[in-house]
Amino acid sequence: METHLIVNMLLDYLGTLRHWTMARVLCRETRAIVNTRPYMDDLYGARTFIRQNQCMGCFKHVEKPRWLIYTALPIEFRRYAVTCHHYHCQVSALFSMIRDLRSNSIHVLKAPFQDTLDIAVPRSDGSETPAKAVIHGLVRVGNEYCIMTRWSDITKNFQKNVPWTHYFPNTSPEFIFKDLDM
Ligand SMILES: [Zn+2]
Repeated sequence: METHLIVNMLLDYLGTLRHWTMARVLCRETRAIVNTRPYMDDLYGARTFIRQNQCMGCFKHVEKPRWLIYTALPIEFRRYAVTCHHYHCQVSALFSMIRDLRSNSIHVLKAPFQDTLDIAVPRSDGSETPAKAVIHGLVRVGNEYCIMTRWSDITKNFQKNVPWTHYFPNTSPEFIFKDLDM
């Protein structure tokens, strides 16, 4: 009971994302409290018409807002959420994003799988084409996680989802918050 009270007070009154993360890793008990607190699950990123100084969670005016960029989406579909610094709004935006993307079969990786966007895409004739990859998320196609790639020539844009196992035959992708039931 005491831990519960302290954690909730900490989060409510001091709450930044750092405190939230701390409470999450402190111990199993505090982690359970953090994980069961209610978050808004509809704080979705927008593509346009963003009010740059208004939190999309609590609607308060923010001087230096936090921007959550949907980097797991291809750049032309990218969306943005603007929040204040309170962990509740930030975590809500984060969870909303993960859930929203997942409903479109896109899964957010714990860390980008490589440092560069450049990737060589295997072609059916055995050659390889230089392309750009989405490095923060994977799309699930059937039973397979795939890397989303794009390239273009003078006339056309191309895209191809290349199975993760083509590049990483021996490692499984790691996704964020896979321990959370969302
Ligand atoms: Zn807020």
